[in-house]
Amino acid sequence: MPATSGSAPLFPLFVDLNGRRVVVVGGGAVARRKVAALREAGARVRLVAPRLVPDLQAEVDAGRLDHVPGPFMPGHLDDAWLVVAATDDDEVNATVAAAATQRRIWANVVDDAARSSVQVPARVERGPLQVAISSGGGAPMLARHLREKLEAELDESWAGLARLLARHRRLIRARFADTGARRDFFERVIHGEVPALLRAGRDDAARDALRAMLREPGARRRGRVILVGAGPGDAGLLTLRALRVLSQADVVLHDRLVSADVLARVRRDAELVDVGKQAGTPGSADAHAATQARIHRLMLEHARAGRTVVRLKGGDPFVFGRGGEELEVLAAHGIAFEVVPGITAALACAAYAGIPLTHRDHAQSLLLATAHARDEADTLDWASLAAPGRTTVFYMGVAAAARIATRLVAHGMSPSTPVAVVENGARPGQRVVLGSLASLADDIRRHAVRSPALLVVGEVAALAARLGWFGQAPLGVPALEQAA
Ligand code: SAH
Repeated sequence: MPATSGSAPLFPLFVDLNGRRVVVVGGGAVARRKVAALREAGARVRLVAPRLVPDLQAEVDAGRLDHVPGPFMPGHLDDAWLVVAATDDDEVNATVAAAATQRRIWANVVDDAARSSVQVPARVERGPLQVAISSGGGAPMLARHLREKLEAELDESWAGLARLLARHRRLIRARFADTGARRDFFERVIHGEVPALLRAGRDDAARDALRAMLREPGARRRGRVILVGAGPGDAGLLTLRALRVLSQADVVLHDRLVSADVLARVRRDAELVDVGKQAGTPGSADAHAATQARIHRLMLEHARAGRTVVRLKGGDPFVFGRGGEELEVLAAHGIAFEVVPGITAALACAAYAGIPLTHRDHAQSLLLATAHARDEADTLDWASLAAPGRTTVFYMGVAAAARIATRLVAHGMSPSTPVAVVENGARPGQRVVLGSLASLADDIRRHAVRSPALLVVGEVAALAARLGWFGQAPLGVPALEQAA
């Protein structure tokens, strides 16, 4: 007779095993996992098995685990509340299940729903908070898939939040006797700054914020700004944290470089503002300053109105992204902020073009530089950039390419030093143009390279010819081979 009765749904329970006897039958890897989980829940585990894997044997030898060597006998269950059969012997598992039923003890037979009177769910744990998932034993893969989704969805702050709320439970109940008011309060806590402070690792500040909300429940929600790196474009290269933040945003202020693929992950109701469009007279000298001033104004306005503002930038916000300037403005105005790093163009382009930025044979250091068409190119330390054993990645360097090549050669770099130009790196239209310092300006002209593109200068660039794996094959490879 199967232990579970087929058509009726299972009834979920969270069981207190602390100090209670649980028997595990089996001495292999599966038994080891079960023993660990049961002991974590405080169970007094008795292991029944003729032989044990070394880890379990070591636990027994150290006197930390109760072991009955030999085959399973129904009498082993006499003082047990629960039994787990974790052997690969069907007959033994059946005997355990039958003995348990006879004694009215719950039995779980690993991977055998039909023989189990209780099933162990897939679970996601965040401190005292546990989500248990069951498919009734019929589709464990589906339960596992859902668990992975939740693992990605729920960050660690949930653990801190669960503990914090538990510690203040009595206070909260006293303050809001009415269930509806209590629910409203919880809503405001969950969408307010407390989880943000926990994510920022500021547990004491989170506690103080919760207490302030308890004292003054009518106070307006405090807004904050989250500076997020959107990576090179492919949404698969966003961090989990970036994804979570995008789904919480009230307002998203994004640059033009941010792809549609990434913007599609933003919460539906959020307001999207493209702040990459130039303010003021387009192309005028102070258009840049006006654009930046507008960004600062929008961040402050929305945060002061209590909104969660996501400032979304291509790549990483702290690499040629003016993220520092924006945070300084926020700090000066007392607005709370967080930063979520992103994959910067140098890393994405290198990975997708097959260029290891450091390499034991070719490059021991890496430099990220910008050589904007105007004056930055003149303030760079060219001697250092031209040093051997180094890879230098130039952002925004296409327009200034000719000057970059000339300066590097003037400072002692060989004209035959390999250069890779990566256009639209890690995006569907990626192009990699391989050449040398000597041919760089020509290569860019001939292939009509357009922004966004960056230059990778150094011996490693040549490896793209062999290690490129994404999109179309690199251009200019024969030229490079002739030079070599
Ligand atoms: N914060 C960004 C850089 C902004 S500066 C980051 O960390 O990536 C903009 C420059 O980045 C562009 O001019 C170009 O040089 C480079 N860039 C950004 N995305 C790129 C891409 N997909 N392919 C090649 N270069 C890119």
